[in-house]
Amino acid sequence: MEVGFFYHPQIEKYDFGEGHPFRGKRFEIFLSFFKERFPDFKNYFQHILPSPASDQLLCLVHTQDYIDVVKSASSGIEVPYLFHYLSSDNINPLTGRFPQGIDEAARAIVGSSAEALEMVARGSLKKAIVIGGGLHHAQPDFGEGFCVYNDIAIGVENLKRKYKLERILVLDTDAHAGNGVAQFFYNDPCVLFIDLHQDPTTIYPGTGFIHQIGEGKGKGFTVNLSLSVGASNKSYQYLFEEIIFPLAREFSPQLIIRYGGSDPHYLDNLTNLGLTLDGFKMIGSYTREIAEEVCQARSVDLVTSGYNEELLPFCWTALIAGVLNQEVDLDDFKERNLPSPDFKLEETKEMVFSLKKLLKNYWRSMSK
Ligand SMILES: [Zn+2]
Repeated sequence: MEVGFFYHPQIEKYDFGEGHPFRGKRFEIFLSFFKERFPDFKNYFQHILPSPASDQLLCLVHTQDYIDVVKSASSGIEVPYLFHYLSSDNINPLTGRFPQGIDEAARAIVGSSAEALEMVARGSLKKAIVIGGGLHHAQPDFGEGFCVYNDIAIGVENLKRKYKLERILVLDTDAHAGNGVAQFFYNDPCVLFIDLHQDPTTIYPGTGFIHQIGEGKGKGFTVNLSLSVGASNKSYQYLFEEIIFPLAREFSPQLIIRYGGSDPHYLDNLTNLGLTLDGFKMIGSYTREIAEEVCQARSVDLVTSGYNEELLPFCWTALIAGVLNQEVDLDDFKERNLPSPDFKLEETKEMVFSLKKLLKNYWRSMSK
């Protein structure tokens, strides 16, 4: 079996508590939904139980000081100056405390992403799906945006050091900009970071403007695709055709990581983009096609976000169906008041026009 499915039961404890938009029960709800919709689950996937991340692995990105604080706070110990290390959105809204057990859960997530990337890099798997991965807001010494440890940055850094990979494409399709990942690789030409997200003037974390293209040797290797509020399926299609496919061909990555869950859907409760279920399947399909074309299909998909729990399993399943080129019946989710697929397409075309001007000195394919 060439496709790995990473699900560590510990991730169910990645839960910020009652009243918080990120609850751990999303994972088990998705798993039983997915197994029911994908009856060949057992035969199709190699189900892998990864080891939780060690301090040594976390230290590839995070400071030991920060790791110690997370460990203590997660075990119920009172930590002075906790808000120097964590934003208020990483706190249980009812108790005002850091959720207990979240350190172990976050380590299970990092362990899953890192092991999936390693197995694909060394050819033990062709593809991997990691449930729980994609905590893109976490900084080296600060946890924010529901993200404790940055499994993406850790996984990529680990690949660079252990397998000497020199060209990794990281594609962020979450509705929010991946500020933690962007900042970590901002000077690094080994990582081409392409980030599709809602216009940063309208949403957390307020970064990810098109002029932010990297620095030093990494200049041109950060690509922010800022979408107007409500931008729908055709904008995504346009970005894949005009930017993502051409850059991926020119960069010629050795491996692709895509991450992001259901929050760009038009019914998500925290965001304002316009994707439909078909749009999620399209993202999965395009990611698969790029990987097949440029890196012998070697790709890892990390799925965790989404803030409409009824919708979330449908979107994640649509995405994964696209990645695997499988048909899955999702017609029982009735998408009412569907946005027009070309809503805000003109704005997206204008954004691409301006972005190409910024990138054309770094990429031949952007001068067209
Ligand atoms: Zn998000």
